[in-house]
Amino acid sequence: MPPPALTGLPPAALAQWLESRGHPAFRAGQILDWIWRKKATAWEQMTNLSAAMRDELAAAFRVGALVHSQTQGAQDTTRKFLFRLHDGRYVESVLIPASPALYGEPSDRHTLCVSSQVGCAYGCRFCASGLAGFTRNLDPAEITDQILSAERLAAVRVDNLVFMGMGEPLANLDNLLASIDLITGPQTLQLGARHLTISTSGLVPQIRRLAEHPQQIRLAISLHGATDEVREQIMPVNRKWPLKDLFDALDYWNSRKNQKLTLEYILIAGINDALEQAALLARHARRLHAKVNLIPYNTVAGLEWKRPPEKHCTAFQRILQQAGVTATLRFEKGHDIDAACGQLRLKQESAEGLVAQDDEDA
Ligand code: SF4
Repeated sequence: MPPPALTGLPPAALAQWLESRGHPAFRAGQILDWIWRKKATAWEQMTNLSAAMRDELAAAFRVGALVHSQTQGAQDTTRKFLFRLHDGRYVESVLIPASPALYGEPSDRHTLCVSSQVGCAYGCRFCASGLAGFTRNLDPAEITDQILSAERLAAVRVDNLVFMGMGEPLANLDNLLASIDLITGPQTLQLGARHLTISTSGLVPQIRRLAEHPQQIRLAISLHGATDEVREQIMPVNRKWPLKDLFDALDYWNSRKNQKLTLEYILIAGINDALEQAALLARHARRLHAKVNLIPYNTVAGLEWKRPPEKHCTAFQRILQQAGVTATLRFEKGHDIDAACGQLRLKQESAEGLVAQDDEDA
């Protein structure tokens, strides 16, 4: 294993390490400034540290955990960054600029879709990340470094994070929580917790544990079915934690948090788009005081599923709205990186829908 990366080290641990070697306390502030504000990637950049001190640090730590490998997309469009990890694996992050369609005027706001694992064990049927199975969890540095790297590479400030890239974030909860402490910390990125959304396939024990976390993080559930029978066709996790268990955990979440839940629902023709499902979904959403983010399906290579006609999607949405549920349905056409990558489009549209709803709440 390589030495730990500073982008995963809590400020208090860095201060302790420096103190134990006889360095004055202000050095911690200087190093944190290089890492989190100036986004340094090499020791040589830290010009206010002596060469001897940089050598001492370099023997114990790496600066960051990711090596940028590739960027797809361009300024003002969705950009996908591919990063190489120390063991030769890769993860991706997707930077999504605010859409003029959302804000009605140009905006420089950005949302980053962050990965939490290499591969995924949960095998949701619409998702390519699960196809090759699970490889390993990302450590806190590999999570936080996605944000630092995206901000550096795109020269922007990331305003919102959605944990909806590769992996099931709640299956890597310890590292996720450690990275969230770093992301929201006063000496690090200072992102407000309400700008962080965790999207989960519905891991019941972890939802309960996350509900205990003091920060007002947002939660989105990949629901995609309003009955166990329908959901199981799309989400194998439903066999382990069926809707009743999931909704009980979400009731508990609501008892502990002020942020509204989001139910994500990919509309797939002939699979989960019956209007009876809409009526049941409305009932669930009302019970959970949740918003619904409807995402018309995009083709994924190797799957025969299709998106329903636009008129049908609108009828599905109307049933929710008539029941008093806030339901977003968007047919964004722009900013594809790769039109063949339906999965990326799904994530992009899910993320945009989440941010749009959160902005309405703000
Ligand atoms: S949607 Fe998320 S939980 Fe489901 S297989 Fe893909 S990465 Fe895993």
